[in-house]
Amino acid sequence: MLELRPTCEHCNKRLPAESLEARICSYECTFCQTCVDTLLANVCPNCGGGFVPRPIRPSRSWKGDNFLGKDPASAILRHRVVDPAAHARFSAPIRDIPPEKR
Ligand SMILES: [Zn+2]
Ligand SMILES: [Zn+2]
Repeated sequence: MLELRPTCEHCNKRLPAESLEARICSYECTFCQTCVDTLLANVCPNCGGGFVPRPIRPSRSWKGDNFLGKDPASAILRHRVVDPAAHARFSAPIRDIPPEKR
């Protein structure tokens, strides 16, 4: 199950469970859309993978108590600012490879 982390790991922007701006990699490294599209160039600084929009967990119990009321979003902050120069070096050989071929 996704943790649904509360903020962008880089800029600390709030990304509540219903946010349409949240982006995650396969390890659930979590960033805002702006950071993914600009600073990160769709390369996760932790694993090199690409990002996808984070799914929205339902706020109501439509079926079997699978909803935020029973499985709430994480409140644990993970704030690790990305160094732009270091990320440029790291991402240079990766950014032009489509995520499905990395
Ligand atoms: Zn951000
Ligand atoms: Zn990652």
